[in-house]
Amino acid sequence: MMVELPDLAAMTAFGTKIADLLQPGDVVALHGGLGAGKTTLARAIIAALGHEGDVPSPSFTIIETYDPPAVRLPLVHADFYRLEHPDEAEEIGLDHYRIDAALLAEWPDHAGGFAHEPACLTIALEISGDGRKAIVEPGADWQSRIP
Ligand code: ADP
Ligand code: MG
Repeated sequence: MMVELPDLAAMTAFGTKIADLLQPGDVVALHGGLGAGKTTLARAIIAALGHEGDVPSPSFTIIETYDPPAVRLPLVHADFYRLEHPDEAEEIGLDHYRIDAALLAEWPDHAGGFAHEPACLTIALEISGDGRKAIVEPGADWQSRIP
């Protein structure tokens, strides 16, 4: 499905909808080039899950984690852009972080991709006029959840 996101308010509303459906074990795979809005959407999801205050971009740290009670469920926000090989995702302990968390992944292809996982919600963001649009492909686990 395609979702028009003409401004930041639309991005916030979209992030809130995703946050309301998010469960441990899920992946939200955020595709799109530099400036497409991946971090903006991740920030909207993290805020809707309860986090107050800044959400640093993980572009340098690669992984930022958020834990209850500040958020409704454990969360990993990752930006895999700087990985040179998918194996590096394991070297930084991705599987460990994911044990009981949901994963918001920017540049998911740099970590090998997650679309084969039934719990993956694939979102491809692109610039559309002054705003953005998203092509959304829900994995099997998401299909029954989407209202
Ligand atoms: P990415 O993480 O994909 O590189 P960012 O989330 O950092 O991109 O967003 C880049 C810029 O795009 C930011 O200045 C942000 O405010 C703007 N932006 C994000 N989403 C939208 C939108 N739906 N409409 C207009 N501007 C947006
Ligand atoms: Mg980003």
